Amino acid sequence: MPASPPRALRRLAGALLALAIVPALAFAAAQAVVQSESEARLAEIRDEQLDGLLFSVNQNAWDVASTWADRLGQPSFRVESGSSSAEAARAFLEATPAVRFVFATSPARADVLYYGLPAPVRTEGDTTGYGLYAPYATGAEQIDVRETLPDALVERLLAQQALGYRKLEPVALDSGGLLLVFAAAPVNGPTPRILGMAVDPSPFVETVVMPTLREVGRGGVEFGVFREGEAEPIASTAAMSRAEITRQRPLWLLPGYVVGVRVGEGSAEEALRRRAWQSVLLFGGVTLVLGAGALFAWRGVRQEVEVARLREDFVSNVSHELRTPLALIRMYGESLAEGRVPDDKKPRYYSTIVAETERLSRLVGNVLHFNRFERGTARIDRRPLDLGALAAEIGERYRPVVEREGCALRLDLPESALPILGDHDALAEALVNLIDNAVKYGDGGPVEVAARRADGSALVEVADRGPGIPPADRERVFEPFVRVQPASADGLVHTAKGTGLGLALVRRIAEAHDGTATVSARAGGGSVFRISLPSHA
Ligand code: ADP
Repeated sequence: MPASPPRALRRLAGALLALAIVPALAFAAAQAVVQSESEARLAEIRDEQLDGLLFSVNQNAWDVASTWADRLGQPSFRVESGSSSAEAARAFLEATPAVRFVFATSPARADVLYYGLPAPVRTEGDTTGYGLYAPYATGAEQIDVRETLPDALVERLLAQQALGYRKLEPVALDSGGLLLVFAAAPVNGPTPRILGMAVDPSPFVETVVMPTLREVGRGGVEFGVFREGEAEPIASTAAMSRAEITRQRPLWLLPGYVVGVRVGEGSAEEALRRRAWQSVLLFGGVTLVLGAGALFAWRGVRQEVEVARLREDFVSNVSHELRTPLALIRMYGESLAEGRVPDDKKPRYYSTIVAETERLSRLVGNVLHFNRFERGTARIDRRPLDLGALAAEIGERYRPVVEREGCALRLDLPESALPILGDHDALAEALVNLIDNAVKYGDGGPVEVAARRADGSALVEVADRGPGIPPADRERVFEPFVRVQPASADGLVHTAKGTGLGLALVRRIAEAHDGTATVSARAGGGSVFRISLPSHA
């Protein structure tokens, strides 16, 4: 049997594999493209949403600061000297921890009035905690609005105020805070006032920015507020560092501060990535299953092709097996009929004709019986019989045949009966096939037929001293049409003819008796074929 399948078969297998795997791979690729497209689109949408969120956070902070400016600009709260405005300022500062102090001054900034919390605010001639004409100071920090406000800024504020609208202008302080400055309409007299508040970044972020961020930060999206150049946030909705930020926007109100966004687990993006992985796994699985299916189909086809090839061999083997004995019988028969055979040779001619006829009928019998087993029409008529007696009967009947081939036949049979339930003719046929093979493949060595009892079974064994059967072929030889060509002891290859049906028939007969037929290597060389049948008590 050839080791590799024929080319057509390989091509068929390739086509099968391609049929199964190419569509799965194409699917997977298409899926990957769709995934990456939708991922990109989703990222775009997410960025737009984040920009919207950051915009509204900024807008809100700005709105809050505007409200404070509104209050500061009201006539009742003009941050001018006087106890009523001082009280208003104190109430405002207490309610607004992000504002450290407020101030009011004239456009010329000749005098500045500060209201600050906590006291003490250094003042000149004032012990209430509010002061005139003095820089604002707590601890090491000292802010003098007269120096801090650039002229250009004040002019811009006045111009805006003259046009009727108010703009909050931020002025960064060295300390990290900022002044929010604006101009307000005059109250008593013609000059507008310059008003302002000092905003502390940390409390501002905590009390104004973070509440909005906490509200909008959900679904795996987390926010943090960072000072420019710092890795750790000054406040955030979840623990994070700068490196994890996927997007950031400056805080309009606080120069040097940014709001950063981290898209983490539980976000839509994360879910999408997970889904992409799942699809990849799914398609991988499908490809694997299809591949396995293709492989399975390929093996099936290969077996079919192999069986077809074996059948072809079988037909040519059978023709040969028929032609050889027929030619002999005809030749010998014709010689005898024509009286061309001397008397002393006649017995050999007759016995050859008989032997060849027997061989023919065994061959035809094998084919017919095997066919019956295949069609399910084989009739096994099981009756009580003695397996030892059956082995003795067949051994004696075939002794002349074995010896004619130059082999010795030895029988090793038990004294007591080996009762079984069996079909006499079928079992005899199986045994004859084994003896026949032992002669055919036994290299002229002795053929031994033994019967014995073993563990509730009755065994009959046929052993030879031939080359044996390679372990890899010991099961295959029982398959129909399978013939192996074992090397003989002298290294030559057997050329014995046969149909490959003998052992298949032996196994079918054994199994029809609820038994088994097996072969094993024989110690010292050769094979032992064994039929094991259930004992019948
Ligand atoms: P056939 O003898 O017609 O080829 P079988 O089914 O009887 O068919 O045997 C199948 C194959 O098993 C044989 O072709 C032969 O290669 C191998 N075989 C059978 N009996 C023996 C044996 N006693 N020793 C070695 N090989 C054997």
